[in-house]
Amino acid sequence: MTPDRTESAPARRAVKDTLPCPRCRQPGLLTALYPHTWHGRTGQPVSGFKETVLCAVCDRGEAAAEDIIALVDTDGQISPENTELFLRRAVSWVASARGRELDMAVLTEEERRWRSGEL
Ligand SMILES: [Zn+2]
Repeated sequence: MTPDRTESAPARRAVKDTLPCPRCRQPGLLTALYPHTWHGRTGQPVSGFKETVLCAVCDRGEAAAEDIIALVDTDGQISPENTELFLRRAVSWVASARGRELDMAVLTEEERRWRSGEL
């Protein structure tokens, strides 16, 4: 008898577990994992994935993030009634996050803090 592949295959997660915010270490509200391409030292494109954490503290003031935070603040959770609205807002938030450029000043300051032992 041949084993049923669907029974022996590990469960595939549709939603990634939420990570802590990498900026403030508080629990994140949502973690998105999406395809990302960058250029390596040789200038060749490198394809992979990028994670972005939605944080109720650090992402305040960013419009797409505020839309989701407001939804969670109002209802406390995603319900069947607001699932479609949540999905539309999540797509907008991921599009916004994908377009965000690396802030070299923030990265330099974090490196300085890490090297000095502050982090
Ligand atoms: Zn944060």
